Amino acid sequence: MDSNGKKTRIVKDIKVDTKKCAGCRACEIACSAFHAVPKFSSVNSARSRIMVVMDEVRDIFVPIRAGDYAQAECNGRNRYVIDGKEYDECTFCPASCPSRDAFKDPDSGFPLKCDMCEDVPPLEKPMCVDACTFGALTYEEREEAVEAEPQKREEMEIGLKSLIKKYGLKKVTDTIARVSKE
Ligand code: SF4
Ligand code: SF4
Ligand code: SF4
Repeated sequence: MDSNGKKTRIVKDIKVDTKKCAGCRACEIACSAFHAVPKFSSVNSARSRIMVVMDEVRDIFVPIRAGDYAQAECNGRNRYVIDGKEYDECTFCPASCPSRDAFKDPDSGFPLKCDMCEDVPPLEKPMCVDACTFGALTYEEREEAVEAEPQKREEMEIGLKSLIKKYGLKKVTDTIARVSKE
């Protein structure tokens, strides 16, 4: 809760400074070791939830953390031009999707997603950040107010309206009053 009594949540983020990234891939190694079963029993960058997109000629290294699994290839894609060089549409995409092997477990093919190294007890900072001695990755936490989701509210209103139509306002309010006391 914040000072106004509003519900809040902690949002975790990793800020990337591509200018500081040296392409050493220590972040990939640390991530794969942390997620090995048992922990730290093996190292395999293909199992990492962070992937360093590298173009050594242009001196560009961009660490990308794995995002959500996408069931299908997307139709609308982004093309990036950096220092005059055009990159493929999927180059900086964080999704595990059918169009490529990135962010998929090499053995099972299951999608991999960054989990911010959630652990018990919690780590002071995620493994990739800790491993990055170049300071390209910075861990940040911020408190954010949780807003009621408009879509859910809309769905709830539609549901309530249909209940009222079917049973009448009094019956619905009586039921809500009774259930809330249980
Ligand atoms: S550990 Fe840091 S410097 Fe090395 S590749 Fe990863 S982000 Fe870049
Ligand atoms: S990898 Fe490419 S096709 Fe798949 S979601 Fe990303 S941009 Fe779309
Ligand atoms: S935060 Fe943890 S899970 Fe996510 S990429 Fe970094 S090391 Fe991997």
